This record gives sequence, structure tokens and C-alpha cells, in this order.
Amino acid sequence: MDLVFFGMQGSGKGTQGALIAKKFNLKVFETGGELRRLAKEDSPLGKKIKSIIEAGKLVDNEIVMEIIENFMEHLEPNQNVLFDGIPRSQVQAKSFNELLERKGRIFKGVLIKITEEVALSRLLTRRICESCKKVFPADFTANSCAACNGNLITRKDDNEEAIKTRLHAFTSETLPVIEEYQKNGKMIEVDGTKRIEEVDKELQIILSPLLES
Ligand code: AMP
Repeated sequence: MDLVFFGMQGSGKGTQGALIAKKFNLKVFETGGELRRLAKEDSPLGKKIKSIIEAGKLVDNEIVMEIIENFMEHLEPNQNVLFDGIPRSQVQAKSFNELLERKGRIFKGVLIKITEEVALSRLLTRRICESCKKVFPADFTANSCAACNGNLITRKDDNEEAIKTRLHAFTSETLPVIEEYQKNGKMIEVDGTKRIEEVDKELQIILSPLLES
């Protein structure tokens, strides 16, 4: 079974996803990360993606679906996947659901719940490692990454204006997708305001019966 992680920006979705992927041997597809990699390319597509990301807007659905299809084509047989950052809109959910169905894959959604106030304050104060992309909250005061010693930087789109645009995109575009999965009994939910270890533990308890069979 695949997992599809949902949560407002700053919910700890990436952190929790990495822990769960490691625990249950899932391959992570991190949509934002894939797009940021492409945005570094010196090509018209790279430049287009870069400007969209920096404005906090959503990248065109066709581009995102092409990247994900390409990723799925290179999967080992029986490899389960943890999708992070997709689907982000109802149009994308339709393409995404169809793609997974076509590939004969089943999935559960996982929602990490936080409020918009918590999201804003976490995003304004977090830093990421330039090399391994690990995220560090405000209370981590060192200047280099605890995992790889890389340089800690503030993400270009972690400024108040872009954050507000992203949070607005979440409420207007992604929330309807979440509600649809909830309605269809496809969503598992946990409280993302708790400590990292507590959220992880709760997720492991819920997911073990589904992923260890
Ligand atoms: P994230 O790292 O998840 O915050 O994503 C960073 C940026 O990548 C977003 O603000 C969007 O510009 C873009 N992005 C990530 N996932 C998607 C998606 N599923 N569809 C469209 N754009 C996306």
C-alpha cells in the first residue's frame, strides 16, 4: 500500500514522512523537492518552475504529472511509495487517482493537522540545510546541519508574502482534496502540534497494521 501525506506547509509532513518511509521501507516522492531540483536547471522549463515556486504559486499540473509518471516508471516491483506534496488541487487529484488506478496501486491518505497560526510561525522561523535539505526549527540555534554539517539557510519562499500565498493555496486548493478523501474513508489523521517523536509514535501505531502484512 502507498501513502499520500497531507498537511499544511510547516505541519512537519516532510519530517514525519521521512521517519515513516524509513520505518516501513517506502520510497519517498517529494513533489516540492523534485520541482526545486528542476528549477535549478538552466533551461526555459527550469526558469519557469523557479519563478512559480518563488511566488508561492502552484506549478502547472501537466509538468507535475509528467515528473510523477517518470518516477513511477522507474520503481522496483513491489516498492511502496510515500507521496509528499501531491495531489494539491482537485484537478491534480483526478489525474493522480487515475494514474494510481492505472498502475494498480492502492493508497491511504495521512493528514497531519495544525492551525494556520502554528504554520505561519513555524515557516517564518525554520531553516533548511543547503546540502541534505533537512529542516531545523527555530530552537535549533547552530549554523550548520546536525546531520551533514551543511550550511543552514532560509528557503527563498519562506517569506511572509509567499507563505501566505502558499497557505491560501492550501485552504482553497488542497482542502477540498482532503475533504474528498475523508468522505471516502481514505484518510488517517494525527495531531501535528505535538512533539515530533509523539506524532511519529502515533503514526507508527496506526500504520503498522496497514503496512506490515
Ligand atoms: P513544498 O516544498 O511542498 O512547500 O513545495 C514548494 C513549491 O513547489 C510549492 O509552493 C509549489 O510552487 C510547488 N509544488 C509542490 N508540490 C506541487 C504540486 N503538487 N503541484 C504544483 N506545484 C507544486
